[in-house]
Amino acid sequence: MDTKPSGARPARRSPRLPNSNSNAQGRSEELKEAKRKGKMDRSKGEDELVAQLKHLEVSRSLASGTGLVHSEEFTRHNCLWDPSHPECPDRVTAIMEELERRDLRPRCLAVEPREATEQELLLVHKKDYVDLMRKTQTMSEKELQTLSENYDSVYIHPDSFRVASLAVGSLLELVDKVMTSELRNGFSVSRPPGHHAQFDQANGYSLFNNVAIATRYAQRQHRVKRVLVVDWDVHHGQGIQYAFEEDPSVLYFSVHRYEKAGFWPHLQDSDSPVAGSGAGLGYTINLPWNKTGMTDADYITAFQHLLLPVAYQFQPQLVLVAAGFDGVRGDPKGEMEATPQCFSVLTRMLMGLAEGRVLLALEGGYNLRSTAEGAAACVSSLLGDPCPPLSSSSPSLSALTSISETISVHYPYWSRLQVLEGGPLADDVVIRHKANEEQVGETNPSPLGVMTTGLAYDERMMEHLNLWDSHHPEQPSGIF
Ligand SMILES: [Zn+2]
Repeated sequence: MDTKPSGARPARRSPRLPNSNSNAQGRSEELKEAKRKGKMDRSKGEDELVAQLKHLEVSRSLASGTGLVHSEEFTRHNCLWDPSHPECPDRVTAIMEELERRDLRPRCLAVEPREATEQELLLVHKKDYVDLMRKTQTMSEKELQTLSENYDSVYIHPDSFRVASLAVGSLLELVDKVMTSELRNGFSVSRPPGHHAQFDQANGYSLFNNVAIATRYAQRQHRVKRVLVVDWDVHHGQGIQYAFEEDPSVLYFSVHRYEKAGFWPHLQDSDSPVAGSGAGLGYTINLPWNKTGMTDADYITAFQHLLLPVAYQFQPQLVLVAAGFDGVRGDPKGEMEATPQCFSVLTRMLMGLAEGRVLLALEGGYNLRSTAEGAAACVSSLLGDPCPPLSSSSPSLSALTSISETISVHYPYWSRLQVLEGGPLADDVVIRHKANEEQVGETNPSPLGVMTTGLAYDERMMEHLNLWDSHHPEQPSGIF
């Protein structure tokens, strides 16, 4: 950009000061004092701004590289009494093989995993629960099975405590490295999953809540003020929701199969009206899918019209993704139709936030091929590769209904959603849908399928002009 003035620069005139009466000296001193004071007041804010800008310029410009955490240890956790359990060691092996096959693994920086400390586990979990999990290391298979049956959809192996601690610690290592700008972003290929684990209980294949602990850790260790947690696993991550439902420093967004509570975990808490409580009201965003077969267009539309407007208003300093791939086509649990490439695009959409500090942690995904391809697609995006093209289709009416309902709930809390009033997401879409229920996958064009570009303009922008240089290149007329 050419920043040279387009014409001769007039001499800058100083304010005229009286100099011929008896009070002149005194007024001059007062003026000097006022100027000095003003400068001091201003300099405080300026110093903060300059420090922030330096931080931005120096730290983030140096941040490069995608961290990848994995260890053979993650294959040690398995179900002793059900060898065909879907949450199996092959899940992480398949991902690592796919990364190798696509030459993505050598392009990532290997990050050494570590076990989380007790203090770190206690950031989210109750001490009694952590102590109990530690004791499982010396339990017999029978005792482990009996204990597991106390929880919903959980198995515990004698190595589970150590492996689950390693899964937490792996993500904490990535948090350290992106927050100190040693890395730009990262992916933790770990298991067991974590997003269902709660304060005092294991749940849904999850023992410790990896993402929730990493969120608290980032806040405590790196003074991160706002964390966005995106949960695209096909199951609702109620464990993460419960950890932060009263906390406005954590924005939790979950898109999940729901079917009016007909799908596991069968909770009313997973529905769109549940939006957090107390100071955290508006900071829990649930987008429940009430049908299976959701496509790329449904997921992309949800991000474009719901998540991203809110996320850009929230301005997170770190983005953590509970990255399950059971929403990918072919998964026996999710029964969705999103392609692996869709998750590449979703990752890319998040990379514009938090100066690119985006960390993905593996959650579910029970079709080995779909999971491996989904994870590899995300790593490819994290590395900066161009996103693959998606097949063109329109979002389904069922998806639009869900998105509209969630927007209606969050409309009062987020001004960025209010601009949608009268737009394509207005009530008529929902009313028409209710009157004429149609199948997911129908191809009626919807206004939401159209990509639009927003234009921001306000006449007040004309009021910013250079008073002493009428030829300054940054002219008010430039916005026309
Ligand atoms: Zn899942």
